[in-house]
Amino acid sequence: MTAAPGGDDRPPAVDDVLVGVDVGGTKIAAALVAPDGRLLSPVREAPTPAHAGPAVMLDAVARLVVVVTGQHGDGHVPRIVPAAVGIGSAGVIDARRGTVISATEAITGWAGTDIAGGVAQRLWAAGLRGPDGAVPPVHVDNDVNAYAAGEAWIGAGKGVEAALVVAVGTGVGGAIVLNGRVHHGAHFLAGELGHMPAGLAAGERCTCGRLGHLEAVAAGPQIARRYREATGAQEVAGALAVERLATAGDRTARRVYCEAATALGQAIAGVVTVLDPARVIISGGLARSGDLWWGPLRETVRRELVGPAADGLELLPAALGTTAPIIGAAHEAALRRAGA
Ligand SMILES: [Zn+2]
Repeated sequence: MTAAPGGDDRPPAVDDVLVGVDVGGTKIAAALVAPDGRLLSPVREAPTPAHAGPAVMLDAVARLVVVVTGQHGDGHVPRIVPAAVGIGSAGVIDARRGTVISATEAITGWAGTDIAGGVAQRLWAAGLRGPDGAVPPVHVDNDVNAYAAGEAWIGAGKGVEAALVVAVGTGVGGAIVLNGRVHHGAHFLAGELGHMPAGLAAGERCTCGRLGHLEAVAAGPQIARRYREATGAQEVAGALAVERLATAGDRTARRVYCEAATALGQAIAGVVTVLDPARVIISGGLARSGDLWWGPLRETVRRELVGPAADGLELLPAALGTTAPIIGAAHEAALRRAGA
């Protein structure tokens, strides 16, 4: 850390410390991140004011950045001006502009919000400015992309040129990292595996309204729905309950669970065939499943792939946990600032 020149009361400038922020549907989390990806502060959290409107949302995000950079001057953390602020947010994000292209109503009115501009304006108002009077650059990406950027950089994808990151939980999402950078595609939708056509999902309604998409059979809530529809057991509420039933020998639970993993494996094999990444990293709630899920997933991927990819592809669980989007968002912001 270096002190600001001039001896005035402006906070000291820090050349390379970053702030990473993860904006989810229920909570916002942020921390200071070193240029090598280490966390330099505890992760601070605040509840997401998801239904209070975009202005209140932006207030909450900016406030957390102010807290982790010590602008309150409460002495617990040094007052610093980060080199850049990276934000990973729910929704389809225009990562060039830092705006929300589309989003579900999990965050009311989020679509159309200028996150980068709104947060920068609030940081300026809070006095978070460097010696030149400028607010640190604010970079925004989709939360799964930010997660993938973190995992590919210093997590399960460390050291490889190309990785596919798949998130399987309440939905099915994904991201592609090529040469250390998130590949966004022409419409910022690259990697959205959940809406790939899937044979095992034929006739089943996806959350997007279309028929036959992967998410309709592979996402956690859909596994439970399919079990309920097959058995009438209305009390079965989540994928974990279906996994327990399957482990206890319930044949329908076993079939539904296995079909979820097989459909995911087929979709992954399709993407791997096109991109030929070195690693596929699996995150989300379903990644914590046992062999009942990982077994058919690995077997399907291996069976569908041809050539050296069949044995050479590494299929791994994510390594960083909940800090991945914070670290990844910060990393993306640093790369953007460097013009890389
Ligand atoms: Zn869909």
